[in-house]
Amino acid sequence: MSGEAEPGFVIQPAPRPVLPVTGTDRLFPVHRVYCVGRNYAAHAVEMGHDPARSPPFFFQKNPDNLNLTGAFPYPAASRDVHHEIELVVALGTGGRDIAVADAPACVHGYAVGLDMTRRDLQAEAKELGRPWATAKAFEASAPCSPLVPVSRSGMLDAGAIWLDVNGERRQTGDINQMIWKIPEMIACLSGFFTLMPGDVIFTGTPSGVGPVARGDRLDGHIDGVGDLAVTVV
Ligand code: MN
Repeated sequence: MSGEAEPGFVIQPAPRPVLPVTGTDRLFPVHRVYCVGRNYAAHAVEMGHDPARSPPFFFQKNPDNLNLTGAFPYPAASRDVHHEIELVVALGTGGRDIAVADAPACVHGYAVGLDMTRRDLQAEAKELGRPWATAKAFEASAPCSPLVPVSRSGMLDAGAIWLDVNGERRQTGDINQMIWKIPEMIACLSGFFTLMPGDVIFTGTPSGVGPVARGDRLDGHIDGVGDLAVTVV
């Protein structure tokens, strides 16, 4: 037992995950990180699925997987780590069974994120019918830009999203190609979980996912939100 812990705790509490907010020196405290799978038809197809028969679905990362450092450490236990550029939606309010019409008011802001994925472990999990935790929810697996509040960006329902690797365009799409639009995904998610202020949602990736290697430079962009630059180390 350590004598160093904060009073009232048997061990030192972990730091609270936060996102910086553009235009302010205040921070957005992160509660949970939800992710949407196969939310762009072209990406579902490239992964071997028929989007007409297999709708999007949810999985999670850990809040402390958010990575604001600009560096992505190539993780252990994989030889095939992929980039997935995604719009991140941050919730300022939550609730249960939120109506689609009420969902836009829950959005506090947006960020540019990368859902880094151990594709080999994900393929094995799919094959064996196992969870995706080791493929998705590992350390530093969610590089993320600062949050842009809706007060600056306006509500987003369209806009280019792309990712360059070492200056070469790899992923391109438009937010308007999402199968579940942002209000629909908030409404649907709130039927499974009690959404809370501080929850963030990675909203799925357009097509063009592929492997990264140490030394790669990833440059992501979403119109109306901004840029995210990450080096694989
Ligand atoms: Mn993803």
